[in-house]
Amino acid sequence: MSVAASVMSYGRTLADLLYPPACLLCGVHLNSSIAPLCDVCEAAMPRIGLPRCERCGMELPGAYDAHVICTACQRHPPSFDQACAPFAYAEAAREAIHAFKYQGRHRLGSWLAASMAQAAQRALPLDQIKAVVPVPLHWVKRRLRRLDPPVFLAHAMARALERPYVPLLRRIRWTATQTTLNPSGRIRNVEGAFGARSSRRLSGGVLLVDDVMTSGATVNACAQALRDVGIQPVYVVTAARTPTNQKAGEGLRRP
Ligand SMILES: [Zn+2]
Ligand SMILES: [Zn+2]
Repeated sequence: MSVAASVMSYGRTLADLLYPPACLLCGVHLNSSIAPLCDVCEAAMPRIGLPRCERCGMELPGAYDAHVICTACQRHPPSFDQACAPFAYAEAAREAIHAFKYQGRHRLGSWLAASMAQAAQRALPLDQIKAVVPVPLHWVKRRLRRLDPPVFLAHAMARALERPYVPLLRRIRWTATQTTLNPSGRIRNVEGAFGARSSRRLSGGVLLVDDVMTSGATVNACAQALRDVGIQPVYVVTAARTPTNQKAGEGLRRP
């Protein structure tokens, strides 16, 4: 072990003695502070399995293989090329994201980002991704919050994937919160709400980062803004996405 590593390990042991580590979700005692969650909470995280829609990354239980596009993406092809997320936005994953976003639990954010990096490495063509771009909050919201979740996650993703962090997007108008709107209301609410600056130094695609993908309206509007200034392909990674009620095999087709 190097001197730096042994000092860090000693520091961690001392910190663990002074502040006994506990699971950030259920509070159970942990033997070390390296992982933020206990084994039970980690196992309870609802992971998105295979097969999934090739465009939006939605899990499609019962589909006949992994090369399918869901009905929603067939009806309204998204402006992004492909999206992925490690978790379904439910149960323990929803709790973890809330604790990160609204209680400022940075260690949960770092853990979510590590899971997002693994999902991106498995699902996305990383050689086409030249920069990591956060979905921007409106500046008023940014001032009101202690933490800007997409910026935090995008910085962590940029480090994990060894790509530059480039905030190319901004909100050009205020939008109501998406949570109270139905799917068509969500699309109208964010249509034209984002502007992108072009980057002459950027030759290739980008990875757009947000915390949760619900209907996909926000990341879609962001991807469109990036395309409008000639940036493509656009890939998306979020910590979680909302499961839909799409039934197995319903309206699926091979791409
Ligand atoms: Zn726990
Ligand atoms: Zn889809």
